[in-house]
Amino acid sequence: MRDDFTKKTIQILSDRAGNQCSNPNCNQITQGPDNKNQCINIGVASHISAASPGGPRYNSNITSDERKDINNGIWLCQNCAKLIDSDPEYYTCELLQMWKESHEKFIAYELAHPRKSSITDKQLIEFFLMCFTRPAFTHPIVQEGNNEDLYRAICDTIVALSTGILYSRDGRVIENKKGINYIKSSALKQGMYNIRDILSTIKDRMETEIKENRFFSREGNYCFDNKTTQYFYDAARSEILLIINNLANAFGINSDLSIKDRYNYNHMY
Ligand SMILES: [Zn+2]
Repeated sequence: MRDDFTKKTIQILSDRAGNQCSNPNCNQITQGPDNKNQCINIGVASHISAASPGGPRYNSNITSDERKDINNGIWLCQNCAKLIDSDPEYYTCELLQMWKESHEKFIAYELAHPRKSSITDKQLIEFFLMCFTRPAFTHPIVQEGNNEDLYRAICDTIVALSTGILYSRDGRVIENKKGINYIKSSALKQGMYNIRDILSTIKDRMETEIKENRFFSREGNYCFDNKTTQYFYDAARSEILLIINNLANAFGINSDLSIKDRYNYNHMY
């Protein structure tokens, strides 16, 4: 027996997602006109936890009603629906809930704020700079106090680069510019894509480290089971800061972000 969503639940999921895929790296429009005055739909109401035993992310501890509930659904395009079900170990319930939450916030924001007619590359790079002028990127990894906060900051930054919306830890919108897709200069676009790739690499590695319990916290400092891991986080984030500095400088914005000892500098939170 499959715990399928009702037609009404599917409709609400689609509407709440603004008829767009909720994957932050996709955001494909899922509905549109055909040429017979009808509508084409390429969206899918995906189950976060599978509708039947043996399915992706199936959870036997939740009830049938919970499985059919809107809280267990996420609106995606057909490609992304296939993607998440093909690799459920990577696309976990937690990750999908995060996509859904961020995307619905993004749509709610768009709904309340009519689109600005144009945005310049310089305004975009100013926003991107802001995303990285944060402790998650400027503190040595051994001084990061909480791996969940760091992980969340990395994920939020990936979303912010795509949507142009950066959330503070309490869910407030910090900025409301546009994302990478609105960049006009191809050099800036390429640079930002490189940064996004590095962020994804950091995020993947963190997920593995967290799963394998390889972070140790000692008196508010991080320790690692080997120096290579520690080096990786600092080197990868330094590379991001180097790229963003160069991109900003090319637009006449002075930027020299780098990883600095937190106890010697005042940082913006
Ligand atoms: Zn998609």
